[in-house]
Amino acid sequence: MKLQSLLSAGFFGRQYHPDMILSVNTISSPFRGTQIVYALGEDVCNAPDVRPLSLGDLIGKGVHVWSYLWPLVPSCLSFLDFHAESRALSFREASFISFLGQLWKSDWSASRDATPYDVTFEAAEEREDAGEGATNPRTYYRSHCATMGMSDEHSSNGGVTFSLLQKAVFWPLYLSSRTISAFDFSVLRPTPRFLNAIAATHPSSGGGKDRIEDGIVNVDEGAGYVSNALRANDGVVPLFSQWHPCDCENTLCRHYNHGEGILDSPEKTPHDTPPEAGVWHVHELQDAHHLSVVPIWVGSGRQKAFWRDLGQWLRAIDSARVDDVIAAFEA
Ligand SMILES: [Zn+2]
Repeated sequence: MKLQSLLSAGFFGRQYHPDMILSVNTISSPFRGTQIVYALGEDVCNAPDVRPLSLGDLIGKGVHVWSYLWPLVPSCLSFLDFHAESRALSFREASFISFLGQLWKSDWSASRDATPYDVTFEAAEEREDAGEGATNPRTYYRSHCATMGMSDEHSSNGGVTFSLLQKAVFWPLYLSSRTISAFDFSVLRPTPRFLNAIAATHPSSGGGKDRIEDGIVNVDEGAGYVSNALRANDGVVPLFSQWHPCDCENTLCRHYNHGEGILDSPEKTPHDTPPEAGVWHVHELQDAHHLSVVPIWVGSGRQKAFWRDLGQWLRAIDSARVDDVIAAFEA
């Protein structure tokens, strides 16, 4: 989305155009941020500050130590490259005094130019305000949104339940999922706009009628659905953030309720109608976590079904684009 916004703004020159991106396909993307970053240490009132001795603070210090010693790290561990050279953090570029200073207060981990800040709600709103989430009318958009367990808005923890197998194998994600689910949004400053939107959208008022479009979403219970989607998550990202950039009312979107279809029986997914450009097609993958589909290939039936379905979607896009080109020549 960042690349497309740069193309739209002419950043690379007038000869380049956002149409150059035919499709955008995402899996568990934190478009609108995630509360896990606050639980890990991001200051809830003064991001990008990091709370001292929080887990995030300790991780940041660990990265600094690793980066400082990077020239001595054996090649067999090269996959853990944090690109220390880009920030001059290794002992070849930085003095020992400078290194100690970074351990005391990091210029990197507590800056706006770091992943933790990028996934705060505040940073996500800044991107939306800059128009970064706008859709291009000739690009096809599809998001895949995973949730662990089944959501139940009436349960006390926001509704995430887990099987014993999930708990045993993916216990870190299980723990983080519980943390995300139980997060207290009221402590955040500035207050995220999506909270105001939920407060203003009450089912009985009819205000939520058109806020969420199509598919699964019960439009009569729109506020409850969105509220629940703040807590339903894949262990890293809340469901609402995986849908697409911006509120549903400020973008074009179509939500489908056939997540089990994608993972278990792709023939159920709706490829019988031509894909629609400029609209987010939101597909939910139920009983899946942040790592269920990528990056680890395990060859499970569900994983194969997912990629088979995505292939069908991309072929449908190619077919639609060919039809567009033919129609343009005939006109
Ligand atoms: Zn939507």
